[in-house]
Amino acid sequence: MKHKIELVKGDITKIQVEAVVNAANSSLLGGGGVDGAIHRAGGPIILEECIQIRNKQGKCNTGEAVVTTAGNLPANYVIHTVGPVWNGDEEKCSKLLANCYKNSLKLAESLQIKTIAFPNISTGIYRFPKNRAAKIAIQEIQKFQSETIEKVIFVCFDDENEEMYKKLLEK
Ligand code: ADP
Repeated sequence: MKHKIELVKGDITKIQVEAVVNAANSSLLGGGGVDGAIHRAGGPIILEECIQIRNKQGKCNTGEAVVTTAGNLPANYVIHTVGPVWNGDEEKCSKLLANCYKNSLKLAESLQIKTIAFPNISTGIYRFPKNRAAKIAIQEIQKFQSETIEKVIFVCFDDENEEMYKKLLEK
């Protein structure tokens, strides 16, 4: 089945989807940016589940994804993925960022999720060049073959990302 791709400008904590993706850090213990916003809006249950995951499997490696409940968010699940910190190693960082999208989608599919929203992973505090990140995100979403996912929403928080996604998705 082919999934629809949408672009929304705004706050991912307000989006009505089954799963929202969080740009977490490997500690899974919360941070700034979108991570902070999700934990604030979702409430303490999300951190409690993150701590349980950490106790079981240790930290979450870059490019990988884990799932928790979404607490008070409109979503049912938060998929936490750890983006790469941009260090100029284009090949390695690009691969790791692609893994974030792939592994989040795989996890969503294993939960039979139909609708999922992604933030612009790694393009904030982790300084991944926005245009490169947008290309990778769109490419991974377009090529993912899914039996369950019907709609993927890219949620852009800043004008710059929104403009880039708009242009790339028009092509
Ligand atoms: P990272 O550490 O992966 O770079 P950040 O949270 O710093 O994560 O930034 C990732 C992206 O999330 C940035 O483009 C930032 O503008 C965006 N962002 C920040 N807050 C929100 C929010 N509430 N909803 C959606 N996107 C957000």
